[in-house]
Amino acid sequence: MERNCLFCKIVAGEIPAKIVASNELAIAFNDISPVAPTHLLVIPKAHYENVSELTREDGASLLALLSLAGEVAAGVDFRLVFNSGAGVGQSVFHAHGHLLAGRDFAWPPG
Ligand code: AMP
Ligand code: ZN
Repeated sequence: MERNCLFCKIVAGEIPAKIVASNELAIAFNDISPVAPTHLLVIPKAHYENVSELTREDGASLLALLSLAGEVAAGVDFRLVFNSGAGVGQSVFHAHGHLLAGRDFAWPPG
């Protein structure tokens, strides 16, 4: 656990969140400021700054994250987005995928 990391505190139960699914290495919870009817954040329980670091350091947690997203979204069309770096909008530096569903989405994304 990383001190002062918001999502580490959610994993630890120190900050409340609506957790909708979990497995051994990952959890999925509702985004506090949803941009789609379904907007979940799917995160590794362990702290990695972004998806690149997660991929490099902990393939098992990456697979757990993707498996959980697939389970939660089973049967519906969805988009899974990783912002990696402040330049593309990452604001919480604990790797997370945005799992979005329930409306139409433009392509390419803005
Ligand atoms: P990003 O900008 O890609 O780093 O995404 C961070 C996301 O975390 C944003 O969509 C925020 O709405 C969301 N967020 C921030 N604080 C919380 C919180 N306490 N519980 C749930 N989601 C949060
Ligand atoms: Zn963290």
